Amino acid sequence: MDFQLLDTIIKNKKNIFQNVSNSIWGFAEMRFQEYKSSELQCETLKQEGFDVEEGIGGIPSAFKAKFGKGCPVIAFLGEYDALPQLSQKADIMHKEPVVPDAPGHGCGHQLLGAGCMQAAVAVKDYLLENPAGGTVIYYGCPGEEGGAGKAFMVREGCFEECDICFAWHPYAATFGSVSTLANARIEYHFTGKASHAATTPHLGRSALDAVELMNVGANFLREHMIPEARVHYAITNTGGDAPNVVQAESTVLYSIRAPRINQVYELVERVNDIAKGAALMTGTSVDIKIGSAYADVLQNKTLDNLVFKHMQQVFPLAYTKEELEYAEKFKEVGDPKEWIMYQNLAAKVSGEKGASLFKGAMADFCMPPMPMKAGSSDVGDVSWNVPSSWFGVACFALGTSAHSWQAVAQGKSAIAHRGMTAAATIMARAALEIIENPQIVQTAKADMEKAKNGEEYCTLIPNETKFGSF
Ligand SMILES: [Zn+2]
Repeated sequence: MDFQLLDTIIKNKKNIFQNVSNSIWGFAEMRFQEYKSSELQCETLKQEGFDVEEGIGGIPSAFKAKFGKGCPVIAFLGEYDALPQLSQKADIMHKEPVVPDAPGHGCGHQLLGAGCMQAAVAVKDYLLENPAGGTVIYYGCPGEEGGAGKAFMVREGCFEECDICFAWHPYAATFGSVSTLANARIEYHFTGKASHAATTPHLGRSALDAVELMNVGANFLREHMIPEARVHYAITNTGGDAPNVVQAESTVLYSIRAPRINQVYELVERVNDIAKGAALMTGTSVDIKIGSAYADVLQNKTLDNLVFKHMQQVFPLAYTKEELEYAEKFKEVGDPKEWIMYQNLAAKVSGEKGASLFKGAMADFCMPPMPMKAGSSDVGDVSWNVPSSWFGVACFALGTSAHSWQAVAQGKSAIAHRGMTAAATIMARAALEIIENPQIVQTAKADMEKAKNGEEYCTLIPNETKFGSF
């Protein structure tokens, strides 16, 4: 493979993708409403000679852009949704929204999507100069944050033609691969009977009481569940503002996580029983709806090693003095516990040498693939169906938490763009290596079957549930 040619190709078009990323940062569109973000990407990819199919899987802001012919079919999974209430001005060291309460890109998905596009276009340009059999697809995957968009796309068969998928995520550190927790988001809606809370309390049946009792029950459940599981909730409807009314309606949204989807399934059954118990205790009724669910990311030994090999060649990133000074200012307004956590992790996987490399404000060091479970991602649903590799690249100063105003503020910076281009280079190299050695696909497929450990992919999302239900 001619790495020099690939580097030149990437360098020549770097500005296009930095601009795409910056524009998506500005649009800051929430899950399944990413109309401007997807339109901009579709237009850019059409100009690059890709065949674009919009609205795939019945989701208006989902699309795919394809180039090339035959096998192997290598896909890049882009995301571009923002988070609520994270609007933040760029490049300033204090919290200050552009528009109060508006969404913002706190998870770096503007870089995630644009970086995957950058990889797809680089592979296409390389193949134009060195023709070889193979297809490259960029998938525009909306609604990752809380929406599990890719799980709905899997259900509609969107990824069936793929041999291999690559995905990455911007973080404050760089690592070869991690796994995630499977996750289900469930809404419990209680219905009771309104009455005057002082005059006729005996005639009322409180839905809010049911929510409170359900939460008490779930909190007692914690002692008796596997330690890796996580249960979180938010009361999304309290039933009203008046304490002198017995609340007839109330809703609580649960997020239930565990290492594997079947463990989530078991836990969901137990939480459902708690909800039914709360309804029985209060004389109310409960309606239970699963709105989204994420499978755990199935790590793929062959692909993760391939990615890590190229990652080690692309790193260190040789930050400029200005970039490091910029990062230093954000490290100061970050959380020291956050970078100490990464330092400890590096020490764990790479010994003292790993920890000692966490000097300065940027983690210019890559950690190897590790069997760690962190957060949840709908890349998990793809990884049970197509061999996939999912890795992280530093785009933010050490100490920057995901979903924070600090991450939004750094979203258009030179350090963010440098991380994005590094991710694109790693993915393009790995993809081209597979195009040159298509037998890798078979090994990766065998790895995927092995990692399934006798289980088959299943989703907790009921067939009748539409994307973006809540
Ligand atoms: Zn994210």
